[in-house]
Amino acid sequence: MVYLKSEQEIELMRKSAQLVSLTHAEVAKYIKHGVATSKLDLVAEEFIKQHNAKPAFKGYGPRSNPFPYTLCISVNDSVVHGFPGNYELQHGDIVSVDCGINLNGYFGDVAYTYIVGECDPETFKLLTTTAESLYRGIEQAVHGNTIGDIGNAVQKHCENAGYGVVRDLVGHGLGKSLHEDPSVPNFGRAGRGKRLRSGMTLAIEPMINKGSWKVKTLKDGWTIVTADGSVSAHYEHDVVVREGEAEILSTFQYIEEITKIQIDQSLTHG
Ligand code: MG
Ligand code: MG
Repeated sequence: MVYLKSEQEIELMRKSAQLVSLTHAEVAKYIKHGVATSKLDLVAEEFIKQHNAKPAFKGYGPRSNPFPYTLCISVNDSVVHGFPGNYELQHGDIVSVDCGINLNGYFGDVAYTYIVGECDPETFKLLTTTAESLYRGIEQAVHGNTIGDIGNAVQKHCENAGYGVVRDLVGHGLGKSLHEDPSVPNFGRAGRGKRLRSGMTLAIEPMINKGSWKVKTLKDGWTIVTADGSVSAHYEHDVVVREGEAEILSTFQYIEEITKIQIDQSLTHG
């Protein structure tokens, strides 16, 4: 069941998406060599609670094994759903941070892959290509297009660069639930799949591996890593399907004001 949102609801979702974006910027201040990933989780949880919101991931999932943290922190060959912990960030690491919040009953969900210090140029290329593919996907999120148009745009952009597009995990509708219909794969055929309509709100989130698209799950039941050990990137925005041009509710601008590293090339032209 796809829920189309009213303008009032979209306004609430904009507030949620903005708060997650600001939470990321707060976390970005601590992405440094020697910082334990558990510290990032604490920073995020405190910030979210100070702003009268709730972490959306903590407790999410099956009752037998709910996700235990505020952030998913996935370092290097970890794709998504990594656990914060004792690991101390090392110069040259890439760190995918995924954050979800619930503010006034509406969810925001934003992911960004950070660099600790500097990374090698090939890895930087993976990050910029993944971020670019996110915007290629968003460009397709207009009334009258289909879900397949989004996935096709992401897939083409990343596969042309020789990267693997993760199949096992996908984007999703977003609203009063963290995951709503429809699913938004990062691969697919143009013109196929559900028709997009104005007022649909989607979390579009390419997960792109430097090597093969294949992934595996670790024993904790959550952490997804690349099967071949190659590094992986993840960027996610919350968007509204509109006539003519999609609207992006979240932003990476606050993050990149802190990191001074521009992965989001779209920021150079507004
Ligand atoms: Mg997310
Ligand atoms: Mg998501």
